Amino acid sequence: MERVGFFPGSFDPFTVGHQDIALRGARLFDRLVVAVGYNAEKRSFFPLAARLALIRDSLQGLANVEVVSYEGLTIEAARRHGAQFILRGLRTSLDFDYENGMAQTNLTIAPDLETVFLYARKEHLNISSTIVRDLLRHGYDPTAFLPAGLDIERYRA
Ligand code: ADP
Repeated sequence: MERVGFFPGSFDPFTVGHQDIALRGARLFDRLVVAVGYNAEKRSFFPLAARLALIRDSLQGLANVEVVSYEGLTIEAARRHGAQFILRGLRTSLDFDYENGMAQTNLTIAPDLETVFLYARKEHLNISSTIVRDLLRHGYDPTAFLPAGLDIERYRA
């Protein structure tokens, strides 16, 4: 059976830390679906289309990776895409507590889906979308935290 992983996130924006988890996930599964979760009622920093474009550009050339968006429950979107696994990244104990809560809920309500975690590389431990947004808001260049070779200005509305 084809093993399909579903890597959900806000990815507002996708960072080099997210990219690393996606690259490693693509080796773990036959197929990996990177999925941008959005809420039509909530404003994001980057519009959905820009978030998708940035992820596609970051992961181009990976034949078994697909980039999609979804609204609503992650488990339902994962099932729609034929996934058996939800992939998440873990940086610190703060991530652990948050992720553990979600994984426990999903174990109860979606026993057909297994959540798997990949540890962040130590050089990515302090990288987050929040930091990238803060740098941009204050006029600083966040290139060091983004997938290599990307010009973030191309994705700004
Ligand atoms: P969410 O809003 O769903 O938490 P994020 O876009 O912030 O979405 O993160 C998506 C996933 O990527 C989460 O599992 C998060 O822990 C992980 N992640 C975020 N930043 C990094 C990083 N620097 N290295 C590895 N994993 C990360």
